[in-house]
Amino acid sequence: MLSSDGLLRLWTEIYEMTDTTTPLPTDCGKLCDSMCCRDWAPGVGVYLYPGEQLLIGDEPWLSRTWHDSRRYVFPPSWKEGGWFVTCEATCRRSLRPFGCRTFPLAPHLDTHSRLTMVLDENGGAICPLVQAGETALLTARFRATMRRAWMKLLCLKPIRDDVLQASSARDCRSNR
Ligand code: SF4
Ligand code: SF4
Repeated sequence: MLSSDGLLRLWTEIYEMTDTTTPLPTDCGKLCDSMCCRDWAPGVGVYLYPGEQLLIGDEPWLSRTWHDSRRYVFPPSWKEGGWFVTCEATCRRSLRPFGCRTFPLAPHLDTHSRLTMVLDENGGAICPLVQAGETALLTARFRATMRRAWMKLLCLKPIRDDVLQASSARDCRSNR
């Protein structure tokens, strides 16, 4: 795991890299009244990835709650737990969490550790882009930028472990 300074540098780079790229050439929030920024179900929010809180933990528009690994399921390398955050549908866009930036794409690692970007099935109830079921509808720039960002993040063991866990669960569901 990187030092705090190393994590801060990495997250600063990731935020700069992903700052202006969006899933569609126009604002996709017009398709759905920005559903993913609303309280579309009780308690919805996103997890910060390890180290991300160093960059945005104290923003006034963000509420964060510590989820202890004794009560919530995390990969063992997350150790004590992770930060779960919610907002009031307003954020400083340049500091929106990475989970908001990558949605509706999620990383998937196959059994040979090859990375593909897939639609995030967790957004199937709200996101017309997930419901459309076709990553090619998203701009090539968005897909390429998110892939590059994830390639960098996968060098961090806790993030890689989290992606492996989600990928394995996805494979199990699709083999049922
Ligand atoms: S729910 Fe999907 S289409 Fe709507 S704003 Fe979020 S990413 Fe865009
Ligand atoms: S932090 Fe910003 S992008 Fe993320 S859900 Fe809140 S308003 Fe939407």
